[in-house]
Amino acid sequence: MHTVIGLEVHAQLNTHTKLFCGCSADHFQKPPNSQTCPVCLGMPGALPVLNRQAVEYTLRVGLALHCTLPPRSKFDRKNYFYPDLPKGYQISQFDEPLCLGGYLDFELDGQAQCVRVQRVHLEEDAGKLIHAPNGTSQVDLNRTGVPLIEIVTEADLTSPEQASAFMRSLRQLLRYLKVCDGDMEKGSLRCDANLSVSPDLQRWGTKTEVKNMNSFRAVEEALKFEQKRHVALLQAGQAVVQQTLGWDGDKGVAVPQRSKEASDDYRYFPEPDLVPVRVDQAWRDAVAAAMPETPAQCRKRFAERYKLPSYDVGVLTEERELADYFEATIEHFNEPKLVSNWVMGEILRLLKVHGQLKVAPKDLADVLQALAQGKIHRKACKEAIEAAFETGKTPLAIVEERGLDQLSDAGELEHLADALLSANVDQVERYRSGKVGLIGWFVGQVMAQTGGKADPKAVKAVLEQKLSNWLSNV
Ligand SMILES: [Zn+2]
Repeated sequence: MHTVIGLEVHAQLNTHTKLFCGCSADHFQKPPNSQTCPVCLGMPGALPVLNRQAVEYTLRVGLALHCTLPPRSKFDRKNYFYPDLPKGYQISQFDEPLCLGGYLDFELDGQAQCVRVQRVHLEEDAGKLIHAPNGTSQVDLNRTGVPLIEIVTEADLTSPEQASAFMRSLRQLLRYLKVCDGDMEKGSLRCDANLSVSPDLQRWGTKTEVKNMNSFRAVEEALKFEQKRHVALLQAGQAVVQQTLGWDGDKGVAVPQRSKEASDDYRYFPEPDLVPVRVDQAWRDAVAAAMPETPAQCRKRFAERYKLPSYDVGVLTEERELADYFEATIEHFNEPKLVSNWVMGEILRLLKVHGQLKVAPKDLADVLQALAQGKIHRKACKEAIEAAFETGKTPLAIVEERGLDQLSDAGELEHLADALLSANVDQVERYRSGKVGLIGWFVGQVMAQTGGKADPKAVKAVLEQKLSNWLSNV
């Protein structure tokens, strides 16, 4: 059985204002209907004015996805009736989208994948219905008119795992481009999927559409559910019915919603209140020049500039913020592999616990430098960083406060070594007769006496010197 999956991804653009009016586009958890005006409420006679930033963000995504940006693009009315759509139509793009024909490269289990993108178009979001427990529904139009891009893939995906990996990679790209926060739970990034299964590679099976997948896990689970359902129907000799289903993550099932409209049911026609958008070479060049680094560019740069293993590069560049944090630390202390180890280990662990990076790059650089110079040892460094996350003090201040610096006073170490050797002449003799492995035992004794504060390397050096002098003195 062959599975074919295509995705329609909606991403909310994080512009300041809505797509066609001056209302704030930051609608999350605002009092209902507090961010509306005659334009986004669909009052008769109100006219839309296109948000230039939203167009530029869409072009930015198109460029990053290797799309063609046609010189002319236009908006169309998509007509349907729903209480959260006050105008009775949505302004979208039908046959002349801003971006056409691109692709996204990503990885799944270390294997390179490429999925073609059919189009990226710009449209306005609808409002929200709030269903009260008493059975009534209320309408909140704060989200109405917030800019959305729709990214439509070709039906190139062949497994639920691949679809989920595509979504992760697309989310990372949108976040790097700074056009969308990528928060699936908040609904800033949404995904609908078409799936069909066929025993015959040459012919596609009947497709169904799955909606309401609000996490990467949901995408994978919902598609696995549908894939299994299709296979079971086909194996039982039954037909798959073309329909739209909503994913219920709690129950782990996809529930039929409504029969699918064909595009002629929407009676698309050109939006008479907006002129076509012309994207000339100069504008395209300006958008390209202002383009932030993509994840792929960032990975390449990290590998070349810092000579880090690909595993490190992958972890450090997963989120733009972490990549920036790493680089800011490197500016103060240029030891990429050492910094990488600590950022991937201790810093990421504490970030998960505290939810934010509480040690400034300069302060991390300082404490790692102290470590590299042998002023503190690993355990103390770890303790200092952990306490810095908890207290807001710098790691070096913690070192000072708790006396975590190493015992590096050479005189003190020599004194301890002399005392140890004198008290253990038998062991010294055994060492002298060739049991050089005993050095570990001697080091352990001195370390114990210093409460673990000495640098084991320094202790070993002092002991070895003492033992060799002892031997030559005999
Ligand atoms: Zn408005």
